[in-house]
Amino acid sequence: MFFTGLRCVGCGETHQPDRDLLLCPACDNLLDAIYDYEGMRHRIDRDAVAARPHGVWRWHELLPILDRDAIVTLGEGDTPILRCNRLAEYAGVRELWVKSDGSNPTGSLKDRSVTVAATKAVEFGYSVLSCDSTGNKASSVAAYAARAGLSSVVFCPQDTPLPKVTQAVFFGARLMRVDGHYSEVNAMYRRLIKSGEVKWYDCGTDNPFRYEGKKSYAYEIAQDFGWKVPDRVVLPVNGGMALAKSWKGFKELKELGWIDRLPTLVAVQAAECAPIVQSFLAGEQRVAPVKKGPTISSAIAGADPGLLGDRTLKALYESGGDAMGVSDDEALRAMEMLGKEGLFVEPSGAVAIAGLRRLVAEKRVDPAEKVVCVLTGSGFKDIDPIAERVVIGDAIIRNYDEMRAVSSTI
Ligand SMILES: [Zn+2]
Repeated sequence: MFFTGLRCVGCGETHQPDRDLLLCPACDNLLDAIYDYEGMRHRIDRDAVAARPHGVWRWHELLPILDRDAIVTLGEGDTPILRCNRLAEYAGVRELWVKSDGSNPTGSLKDRSVTVAATKAVEFGYSVLSCDSTGNKASSVAAYAARAGLSSVVFCPQDTPLPKVTQAVFFGARLMRVDGHYSEVNAMYRRLIKSGEVKWYDCGTDNPFRYEGKKSYAYEIAQDFGWKVPDRVVLPVNGGMALAKSWKGFKELKELGWIDRLPTLVAVQAAECAPIVQSFLAGEQRVAPVKKGPTISSAIAGADPGLLGDRTLKALYESGGDAMGVSDDEALRAMEMLGKEGLFVEPSGAVAIAGLRRLVAEKRVDPAEKVVCVLTGSGFKDIDPIAERVVIGDAIIRNYDEMRAVSSTI
């Protein structure tokens, strides 16, 4: 094992790798998993890793676990990466690829990280997994709990899309719907976990082990391109865990000598709820909460990303990145354009395309770039905005003659 412990991003204190921790016990800041990269460099070959069976766990040396027998997996990761020429034209760049994360087991990016959290729950001997969520994490936690033979409890805003909560309940979760938007749910939930009154394994925003699963974006994108990273990676962002950890993943690969440069990262949020975008454009080091406005992109409608948001800002600055807020109309248009490529994506995922298009239009991205947009969730996860945009005729064919007659008009 090359996982050597946890280090606080605030006070720098380190903790043993077998400690069951969420935040730093000394200063309540986030913890970051640390590894023996020097040891890894001499003992692990990138092409040997690439030849292993597909999925997040092919990168197990770079994940914070101690017992591979504890791994809880549903075959997450290694989602398709697809070149999309029509979308490239729409967005205005030379070469556009999408990472289609709706292909994960429960239909969203969350499986990449929840597989790690569920594995840690088994390592630590918990019997219940819990989280707060805008919906995708809830259904993922419920699925991985079921897979591990554990129970789950999930807290979601009252207006969470029905397919997401349906999935969670189907997998056996105790669903608690809360009157409030996500950041309000998050504040209450974190207080509950911190109280120590519940003995659940928290798969929420403070879990340092879960974060690490999101590094797999970097590993997969680098490997997909033969260890030549693209110019830019664009991600939809709520708290920004996927962005901050993709950045860590790319830096790890560079430290290991597996890639020779780093990409630029871009965060895209819904303009009506864009605390990270606003703080980034203002040059702040800490994310200031915003007042949430109405948006269809519910999966990324976090008004107060807290400590995680600060890490996201740091990753954006380090990568020379950028950030963009897009309107619901832009998100829906991007979703329709994805449909023209055969891709079924929820609005919260489609914002990546919309954000890229705006950045090119505003001359903040060079049209000659090779760009990867991460599409974080399946259209099945948030079907209403899509259903509202299609017309299903009410005519019913009753016999062959009618079928033939109708067909002659097409
Ligand atoms: Zn600390």
